[in-house]
Amino acid sequence: MKLLDLNRDGGIGANCHLYQIGPFNILVDAGMNPKQAGLASLPDFPAIRDIQLDFIILTHCHLDHLGGLPVVMREHPETQVLMSIPSLSLAERMLRNSCNVMKRQREETGLTELPLFTHREIDGMVPRFFPMTYNRTITFDKEGGGEIAITFFQAGHVAGAGGVEMVYQNRKIFLTGDVLFTPQKILPGAKFPSRQVDTLVIETTRGLNEPVEGRTRGTEVERLLAKIREVIKRGGSALVPVFALGRMQEILTILHEARQNGKLPECPVYCSGLGMDLVDYFDEIARKTGLVKFRRKIIEELDVQPFPRKLTPGRDLRQNAIYVLSSGMLVENTPSYRLASVLLGHAHNAILYVGYCDPDTPGGKMLESEAGDEFIFKALDFTTPIRADVERFELSGHADREEIVELVLAVNPRVVVLTHGDQPARDWFAKTIAEAAPAIKVIDPEPLKETEV
Ligand SMILES: [Zn+2]
Ligand SMILES: [Zn+2]
Repeated sequence: MKLLDLNRDGGIGANCHLYQIGPFNILVDAGMNPKQAGLASLPDFPAIRDIQLDFIILTHCHLDHLGGLPVVMREHPETQVLMSIPSLSLAERMLRNSCNVMKRQREETGLTELPLFTHREIDGMVPRFFPMTYNRTITFDKEGGGEIAITFFQAGHVAGAGGVEMVYQNRKIFLTGDVLFTPQKILPGAKFPSRQVDTLVIETTRGLNEPVEGRTRGTEVERLLAKIREVIKRGGSALVPVFALGRMQEILTILHEARQNGKLPECPVYCSGLGMDLVDYFDEIARKTGLVKFRRKIIEELDVQPFPRKLTPGRDLRQNAIYVLSSGMLVENTPSYRLASVLLGHAHNAILYVGYCDPDTPGGKMLESEAGDEFIFKALDFTTPIRADVERFELSGHADREEIVELVLAVNPRVVVLTHGDQPARDWFAKTIAEAAPAIKVIDPEPLKETEV
């Protein structure tokens, strides 16, 4: 097997790998790097221009895996895109939103290459989406080239996420994709087979996160709710930055349950655009497939309000409220970024992070700052001292590093390939696996360099 990592910037970036397995050319994910803008955010698609892709596999619908798909399909228009049933509807919705966001960015930034794709291009590619039912193997033939068997398995992480097994001539390759083994409020944890594989491709997002004794997802939810109660009681507002896909619906479900159990005082809850639209999709997926546990009616029961548009950096909002807004990493010019500029300078407020923050994003930088430090909102040309509480809660959508090492030891591959992680996180996995199982070869593919596995 040959592997080409097309994520030119390394780190998590724009996820996209070409697997050449026997005669099959398979592209796994075609993401967009949230830290870059315009063409620089795409994987190095020109590197595969002359390759006839047999199919594309989409592991899930976060934009760092999906956001570049219409661009690569421009040159591979007939290629089928394999995805789980929930991803079938979520992918189109996420891409349409991304297109609209890029149109706005074009006005704001003057980047003339935006949008990178159009709604018409999305229309053209949707018929190529190929549904994969979890745990059901589909075999694809190639004329004169044998066959490859593909199976998706539930990967937790977010609705529709899949780990993928590919079997060619008795060689087994398993990709974890982004994975979470612990169940979330609205989604069961990953259910992967434990049978032996030849090559295991793992995500390494949390390679630097040391486990904390006694801390579980449940205790973190309780700690988050206690913090929100404290903030509301003292007359402040709490901002919970979230990814629109998955995490927003989970946090709303947590708030709803807490309100019902008397653990959340009466106070307004505000949300922003895409995540609220996705509520309808989650409701439908829940009803049709039972693969998520989410009901649209919690939005009415929580009396969720649309996020106020008029905000002035530094000028606090009088209302004590909870804001559940994207982006989760406080990417510039998003609702969470703009609201943080309002709340951060006032001590009664709090900004409560519940997911992964890339160290280079405003969210990552804020988490590394200390109370009292000056914080610069570059895109707003605004600086404020940090007076609000800034805290992190471990409700990550990604598995603990120890759980992934456990998976490695359980399936006992000959080769492990590292993906989806900053360099120090990948290094932790390389070192830990080398110590625990020296016979396993660990490959950390260099971007844009073909690797023989
Ligand atoms: Zn993801
Ligand atoms: Zn990802």
